[in-house]
Amino acid sequence: MRDDLTGIYGVAAARKTLDDWQQEAVQQGRPAPVHAMLLGLGRFDAINLAYGEAVGDGALVTVAQRILHFAEDEFEESHWLVARLGGGNFLLAAHEACSRERWQWLAEALADAIAHPIVELAGAGTVRLSPRIALMRPVPGEGASLIFDRLAETLEQARGQQSRRVLWADGGLTVPGKRSAMVDADLLSAIDRDEIEIVFQPQVDLETDAIIGAEALARWQHPELGRIGAGQLFAIAERTDHVAQLSRHIAKTALALASGWPDSMRLSINVTPADLAAPSFAGELLALLSETGFAADRLTLEITEHVLLADLEDSAAMLSILREEGIRVALDDFGAGFCNFRYLKLLPLDAIKLDRAMIDGITEDERDLAVLRGIIAMAKALRLSVIAEGVEHVSQRDLLFGEGVEFYQGFLCSQPVSQAEFLRILPV
Ligand code: C2E
Ligand code: CA
Ligand code: CA
Repeated sequence: MRDDLTGIYGVAAARKTLDDWQQEAVQQGRPAPVHAMLLGLGRFDAINLAYGEAVGDGALVTVAQRILHFAEDEFEESHWLVARLGGGNFLLAAHEACSRERWQWLAEALADAIAHPIVELAGAGTVRLSPRIALMRPVPGEGASLIFDRLAETLEQARGQQSRRVLWADGGLTVPGKRSAMVDADLLSAIDRDEIEIVFQPQVDLETDAIIGAEALARWQHPELGRIGAGQLFAIAERTDHVAQLSRHIAKTALALASGWPDSMRLSINVTPADLAAPSFAGELLALLSETGFAADRLTLEITEHVLLADLEDSAAMLSILREEGIRVALDDFGAGFCNFRYLKLLPLDAIKLDRAMIDGITEDERDLAVLRGIIAMAKALRLSVIAEGVEHVSQRDLLFGEGVEFYQGFLCSQPVSQAEFLRILPV
């Protein structure tokens, strides 16, 4: 499991990569522009002083994980880097086309994610950090040293300002552009305007190596800000209380698309306990199935959530009804940060889906492997099938197969792709 700063660059590596990108930009006629932001944690020294360095380190690991998840969500693979520049300062840089408005919006969204309380931090309870971010779009040729200097200088200025979390380093004005609140307000009309896209990530049978279906994942193609990843999309939906509308829209779109797939292909959709808490959920889902003609026994609901709901009994009853119709239920993100063992006891389930955080270290770390084995044994005892997600390497796939995992999903087989691309990679 990722309990350290794996995936985070050091200063030297970050300098080199930035310089390489910038040089590439000079050499090529049409360069992919570089974007950089420096995030500093206000009050971080105070946390070290008040609770001791162990707590400070714990908070830093959480912050690092949040930045990594954010970057994974928002950028193309290998087009970004996250580095720790000492203290509570992190650099996030991207190497792809991105408007000034979007870069600023991303900074604000990241600041929101970092400002979210860190709960259950050993020795401190709940900790709140107040991030400040300096932004820059260096011109080709401006090297890492200059970028670091300017960003650091601007971050200092930002620290002095209570009202501004995000400040541009290149002398330019903050674009009036889209503040988070305005983007939030756009969501409902985005659903109406069909800006929410569905991509599909194949799921593979480990024994036969054949694709057995796909998980539907949402993306928002914002007219001004470009693509907004699923993590941000659902953060916005939650803030604005639109999770139910969004989920319904996604389920409807995904089922309509999947009804054009070969009969052998299964579809997985993500469902939050908040969705399940709506009394109309089962009825609406069954209605959607009959409208689209997609067979109930080809559908899996992945229960995803990051907070535990107090009362699961109604949800459990609802899932039982759906299972009687042939729908399967999988517990998503198993082994991720929060503890979902309670769901395991209370919900009627067919499968667990091992979180990427559990798969990351299994080929290198004995303890990760031991945890994996324990969980697989538990799943077998409960007669649950196991699907692993976030599988990126052949070595991970082989190990999972050897341990008795039945299915996997991950970049090793495919990134999430459009409907057309998904149909193309299926064997004829
Ligand atoms: P999730 O359900 O755990 O989805 C898997 C996420 O991991 C996807 O990110 C996918 O792109 C990413 N992923 C898959 N394989 C790999 C891999 O090999 N390596 C790496 N690094 N990443 C991999 P995505 O699409 O950004 O979704 C993030 C989360 O947003 C989802 O996590 C899910 O919790 C939520 N989400 C996405 N679409 C929906 C939806 O339609 N409804 C609901 N309720 N939640 C959704
Ligand atoms: Ca999922
Ligand atoms: Ca997951």
